[in-house]
Amino acid sequence: MTIKNRILVTGAGGFIGGWLVRSLREQGYSDVVGVDIKKLKDWYQPGLASTEIVGDLRDLGFAKEVSNGASTVYNLAADMGGMGFIENNKALCMLSVQINTNLLIAAKELNVRQFFFASSACVYNQSKQLDPNNLGLKEKDAYPADPEDGYGWEKLFSERMCRHFSEDFGISTSMARFHNVYGPYGTFDGGREKAPAAICRKVARAVIDNSKTIEIWGDGEQTRSFTYIDDTLHGINLIMKKKFSNPINLGSSELVSINQLVNIVEDIAGIKLERRYNLAAPKGVRGRNSDNSLIKEVLNWEPSISLREGLEKTYAWIYDQLRSV
Ligand code: NAD
Repeated sequence: MTIKNRILVTGAGGFIGGWLVRSLREQGYSDVVGVDIKKLKDWYQPGLASTEIVGDLRDLGFAKEVSNGASTVYNLAADMGGMGFIENNKALCMLSVQINTNLLIAAKELNVRQFFFASSACVYNQSKQLDPNNLGLKEKDAYPADPEDGYGWEKLFSERMCRHFSEDFGISTSMARFHNVYGPYGTFDGGREKAPAAICRKVARAVIDNSKTIEIWGDGEQTRSFTYIDDTLHGINLIMKKKFSNPINLGSSELVSINQLVNIVEDIAGIKLERRYNLAAPKGVRGRNSDNSLIKEVLNWEPSISLREGLEKTYAWIYDQLRSV
């Protein structure tokens, strides 16, 4: 089945955007425009969108140009990375507000019908994330607002922009709060990588170099949940089909410590490493998990791919990348 509506995916050269383009093409969308600021040679999955455009969405004129004719916009573009990046680049993270603002203005002027914004678990009030045994953050826990400085404030503000563009101008907007998405074809080195990719890279590097140690940021007892890319794509699809308009958690509720994450990757790789804890490194909040009551109620579904299963695929891909250079 071919679906002719034009879809715009921003951040298409990145991790989730690249996978989203692939998924939309597989669903039968023939007119998928992928946009990213990165040169085409640096896109993780080039050649999948029917049109690929390189440019800066902080420029309103460019945002309008690429939105023209689109019935749906998925905004996955942001200047972002793991804790190492967002703790040290707060201004850059906040400037992503220009991207979402421009895309919403373009959507209003050009009659885009549906708009998706990639929000984050970083919007949650930090005082609710002090306990490593985090029982799960509910959507209402974003307020009173005290999100991750920089990156989290941008996400929270942009969520509200979506809400008000929906209320005042009638654009159907949806916002998913992603919880640590991981998988192949994503950033695994260079400073923007997140914990699962970083740990897979460090373990794979130790295997290849026959080294015996691994550096871990913090004491390794900080906890998170990690969501495999296939669950994230499925959730985005369901949220958009439902036209659900309130911010909603899209994350696994399988809570692990970073030490447990390392155990799993070591087990996959068949290696045991001596751990060196870097207590001065960025480590983020102490405990964060996704409460999935709302997504279960609204979509009758929640992410279910186990961390072990997702990490096996991610580790294999990162190992191959390291071997191929
Ligand atoms: P990513 O860095 O791989 O992809 C983002 C892409 O946006 C990059 O390719 C980047 O070049 C592009 N971009 C940045 N500035 C741009 C600009 N001015 N104009 C055009 N393109 C620009 O990140 P990702 O992991 O794929 O994340 C996608 C979205 O999901 C982001 O909004 C991110 O904040 C959000 N998110 C991701 C996670 C996660 O765990 N990966 C968690 C929460 C939220």
